[in-house]
This record gives sequence, structure tokens and C-alpha cells, in this order.
Amino acid sequence: MAHLQIADARVYAELAVFDKDGTLIDFHGVWGGRAQRAVAALGDCVDAALHDALLDTMGVDRDTGRVDGQGLLAQFPHDVIHAHCLQTMIEAGVPPNRADRELRARFAGVMRAPPQRDEMLAIGDLRALFSGLRAAGLRLGIVTTDDRDATLQTLSMLQVSEHVAQVVCGNDPVAAKPSPEGILRIAAALDVLPQHALMIGDTAADMRAGRAAGCFCVGVTSGACDAAQLRELADVVVNSVHEIHVLRTA
Ligand SMILES: [Mg+2]
Repeated sequence: MAHLQIADARVYAELAVFDKDGTLIDFHGVWGGRAQRAVAALGDCVDAALHDALLDTMGVDRDTGRVDGQGLLAQFPHDVIHAHCLQTMIEAGVPPNRADRELRARFAGVMRAPPQRDEMLAIGDLRALFSGLRAAGLRLGIVTTDDRDATLQTLSMLQVSEHVAQVVCGNDPVAAKPSPEGILRIAAALDVLPQHALMIGDTAADMRAGRAAGCFCVGVTSGACDAAQLRELADVVVNSVHEIHVLRTA
């Protein structure tokens, strides 16, 4: 348990639950590029119009590859993205069986590939941040829409695995954010009241999940959403996770 200073807010917390993409690692670097490569990998079953329609479906800018913070890719797990892209392909005239097969084989092969070091940019020195928060007595958790294997590999690459007590992922049998279920599971597993937990994330879904769980919600503008989008839902909005400072331990 620790007293924290986050912008102008002073908060007492026992648990900090972080989102992963856009909060701990650069979001656009991974997912904008992956989405573009995944659509390209569909090859000849996608014409130019369907190529653009699939990027629109995911909320990815056709020209810049920038990901819309309020869009599908920024907020939902792989199975939901698959379902919406399948619908887009069927509406464009691709036979349903072929669309499903191609998405599973080619598209998912890119989207769900193991994290690569060169596409994964950590947002600042996470090892220092996490060890400082742990030393102050905080427990740490992660709730992400990404798959479990990719998430654990990412935490290992970031050299923070030892500090993270609980991880809930998009392919776990837990309702995705904005449901509070993942956060509540972590709080229960660590025997912490959700009111004594922070939820830190870069999207509206993160803030809605945190709010529904009863957490103090910290929006970070290092990812998919800007301050105006987060401010409606967050208790405090900061540039990055590195604006969470330990005041003193309880
Ligand atoms: Mg995120």
C-alpha cells in the first residue's frame, strides 16, 4: 500500500492494474503496422475497395496507419476483430467459408504473431517504474485484450514479469473491457478492495472498466486516445505511466 501523487491527485492504493498496449508499449508502432500487413496478407481475395473497408472496420487510417482510439482495434480482443472483419468481407461478396478461412490462416497469422523486439517500443523505463512501485508496497496487475502468450512474452521482453502478480488477457475466459471482470478478478486474487486499486490505461474501454470496478482511473495519453477523450471518464489524465509518483508507503 502506498500514497501516490498523480498529477494533482493524491491517491492511496494497494494495487495498480495496467493496460498493456498504448500504456506500457507504443501502440501505433505495433498495431497500425500489423493491421496493414494483415490486410495485405489476404492477397487476391481482397480488392482495393475491400482492403480499405477492412482498415476502416478496424479503425486504422488508410494512409498513415494511425489507429483510432475509439475504434475496434484499439479496444477489442482478436475474436471480436475477426468477427467484424468477417462481416465486412461477406458484405463485399467474399463467400463466408472462404472469408473465414483466409482470415484465420493469413490475417490472424500476422495479427497474432509473437511480439517482435523491433516493433515493440517500451514507453520509458518500465523496469524502474515497476520496481519502484513494488518497493513502495503496491501489487501490480495487467488487463489486456491481447492474447496470453503474446502478453507474457512482452512482459518478459520488458523485463518486468517478476513484478506483475496477475495477468488477465483477451483470450482468457473473462469478459473483455469495458467489463470490470478482469480487474475484479485480479483484485479478488490479491485480496485487495477494488476501491484501493488504480486502473491505468489509454482508452475509453480501460476507463469504463476501471470505473465499473470502482477503481481510481488514470488515463494516459501515450496511446490511442487524446486527453479530451479520456477526461470524460478518467479521474486524472497524464501523459504517461511515469507520472505516477510514490509519496510515501503506508
Ligand atoms: Mg491500450
